[in-house]
Amino acid sequence: MRTETKCIEAGYTPKNGESRLHPIVQSTTFKYDTSADMGKLFDLEASGYFYTRLQNPTNDATAAKIAALEGGTAAMLTSSGQAATFFSVFNLAGAGDHVIASSTIYGGSFNLFNVTMRRMGIDFTFVDPDCSDEELEAAFKPNTKAVFGETIANPALIVFDIERFAKAAHAHGVPLIIDNTFATPINCRPFEWGADIVTHSTTKYMDGHDAAVGGAIVDSGNFDWMAHADKFPGLCTPDDSYHGITYAERFGKEGAFITKATAQLMRDLGSIQAPMNSFLLNLGLESLAVRMQRHCENAQAVAEFLQADERVSYVTYPGLKGDKYYERAKKYMPNGTCGVISFGVKGGRAAAEEFMKNLKLAIIATHVADAHTCVLHPASSTHRQMTDEELIAGGVRPDMIRLSVGIENKDDIIEDIKQALESI
Ligand SMILES: *Cc1c(COP(=O)(O)O)cnc(C)c1O
Repeated sequence: MRTETKCIEAGYTPKNGESRLHPIVQSTTFKYDTSADMGKLFDLEASGYFYTRLQNPTNDATAAKIAALEGGTAAMLTSSGQAATFFSVFNLAGAGDHVIASSTIYGGSFNLFNVTMRRMGIDFTFVDPDCSDEELEAAFKPNTKAVFGETIANPALIVFDIERFAKAAHAHGVPLIIDNTFATPINCRPFEWGADIVTHSTTKYMDGHDAAVGGAIVDSGNFDWMAHADKFPGLCTPDDSYHGITYAERFGKEGAFITKATAQLMRDLGSIQAPMNSFLLNLGLESLAVRMQRHCENAQAVAEFLQADERVSYVTYPGLKGDKYYERAKKYMPNGTCGVISFGVKGGRAAAEEFMKNLKLAIIATHVADAHTCVLHPASSTHRQMTDEELIAGGVRPDMIRLSVGIENKDDIIEDIKQALESI
């Protein structure tokens, strides 16, 4: 199946007379005839469901669709994108370990790593995604367990050189984790460029309708944990908390990562996505390919309009000719990038606030990347916990306006922006 077809068909095939959509299995519990039957599930000897804190059939159908879209071998849903980011790293690294991350990742990921996970004893080095080979090489330590980057950074819109970072990670025997939220598998499939694990905030384009917070983790099935067993004891030595199972042995390259994250992290931390939300997410996925095409078309028109307007001081959009990341975007995302643009208006912070107040169609919202056009001033909202130096290192100018172009008629969006610019 091609990508557009997978959006509709992958993950669930009803049998004769069954419901076309996967039902919402709104049940915490599953019934068994004998204790022995249930015991097999607890020992991971049989697959099946016993408690929705770990797994639920509705979630698994939606996760299977996302795995198919990314071209991975296994996937799981989490309650939020934050939970997906946390699980993806914590499944590999613990106290005393070290992780390399791009300095331009989403502010929530940066805070999770730099504050909360440091408190858990995990050390992070943040590298400029355009750093020299020497700088990247110098970031690796003997206890490095993973490299983490974002396909298109939210909100800096820096396109990450996935292939380059994958090569560097693999040369050091560690996997590359990519947050593919903004590009979605419609526009970029990081596994094709060497990434090993992909994460998503499904809250954004995947759901696409402001309906449900959620996350997903997908495994490419390519990373050979056993070949680096000394680095990944959690995957390659018996798990005493799970009857001595060695995940990489029992489930192989294709299944070890997601099985461990489910059996261990989901069991202990309980960040499962509600089945109702995963049902809504599946509906969003059905139209994802069509919507992404429209988001990109609209954003391109808006970016070109902004670039030509003398009241606008700068425009950043990787689909725009002349953008610093135009060429790299063409390589990784030949069919379009995303619907998010950032720009500044002449007159700095005050003019930006005035502009935003005057918008009528575009709403001011923390959210990005869904059907409705919305705007945000990151420095005074989502990124306000960051210092000016951290903001600039993260590619966020203090006067930056983030505009998430929706799928309304593009002329309506442009007219709204025009009248707001005129009233500054
Ligand atoms: C929103 C976002 C997250 C966090 O996801 P939530 O669903 O809000 O927890 C992570 N990464 C990126 C790129 C995001 O845009």
